[in-house]
Amino acid sequence: MSVKNIYIVGIGLIGGSIAKDVKRLNPNLNILGIDSNPEHLEEALTLNIIDEKAKIQDLVHADFVVLSTPVDAGVKLLPEILDFINDETLVMDVGSTKRDICKAVEDHPKRRNFLATHPIAGTEFSGPKAAMENLFQKKTNIICEIEKTAFKLQEKALTIFRFMGMRMRYMNPEAHDKHIAYVSHLSHISSFMLGKTVIEKEKNERDIFDLAGSGFASTVRLAKSSPEMWTPIFKQNKENVIETLDEYINNLIQFNDLLKQDDFESIFRDMKETNHIKDILKGIA
Ligand code: NAP
Repeated sequence: MSVKNIYIVGIGLIGGSIAKDVKRLNPNLNILGIDSNPEHLEEALTLNIIDEKAKIQDLVHADFVVLSTPVDAGVKLLPEILDFINDETLVMDVGSTKRDICKAVEDHPKRRNFLATHPIAGTEFSGPKAAMENLFQKKTNIICEIEKTAFKLQEKALTIFRFMGMRMRYMNPEAHDKHIAYVSHLSHISSFMLGKTVIEKEKNERDIFDLAGSGFASTVRLAKSSPEMWTPIFKQNKENVIETLDEYINNLIQFNDLLKQDDFESIFRDMKETNHIKDILKGIA
């Protein structure tokens, strides 16, 4: 791989996990971290995730830049990053929304250096301590507007993604944001609000822990996720999230009505039909 200096802007769970994987690809790579959080930079150094700390101005020396900050920061940082890099540098983002970031650089003179991606992999934890090797193995990477990226840089990126074990899906940014609202953003809201409902009812948290089984734990797992990361995602994808949330709320209201009407036949039928999720998720979960 003709890459020597890799800069990770936002050295947390995703940026750190990419750093670990590319270091495995080539231990001689120099990995440099840029982050607004000095503690995360120190941790990333101590954990050997990065070799050096750096600043945005240093990006002139970059062969490859990974932008892995929260999405609101990403939209602001990307045009600046493109201003600093040279003509051969590949810049990719990993943000969970794609419309705003693509729009932010649509007329930038270095648009062809940028690749918009969203690896569908992660955990509920944040920061460099949460970074792990092989996080992306057998996971899907959604790539948007690939035709707007220079062909040579597309090839470079695909080589790295294949090494990390990812399979590629191609979509336009609007379709990405619409679909991801259902399978990711709504799941997080549902988990956060389930957690909120139970916490509000059971003020004595000890009771929750005593009664909670693995079903509860797995359903509220996503409620441990970082609000710093999720608030800007909901803000950027507000219209799609509202639409999915309306549909979800309708289903909850309908379920509640069926219960009130003692219509357990319909409840049984709804659940039976929804069991189809087992076939849909085969091989994923
Ligand atoms: P993370 O662990 O919180 O890492 C993000 C890092 O960026 C943190 O160190 C954060 O510092 C830093 N940061 C915030 N604003 C910055 C700025 N203006 N300049 C430089 N650094 C800044 O988050 P993550 O989970 O890796 O998520 C990173 C990106 O990946 C997000 O865009 C997210 O949408 C996307 N993504 C996440 C997942 C997931 O499951 N977590 C999956 C796929 C894609 P502070 O902590 O001090 O804010």
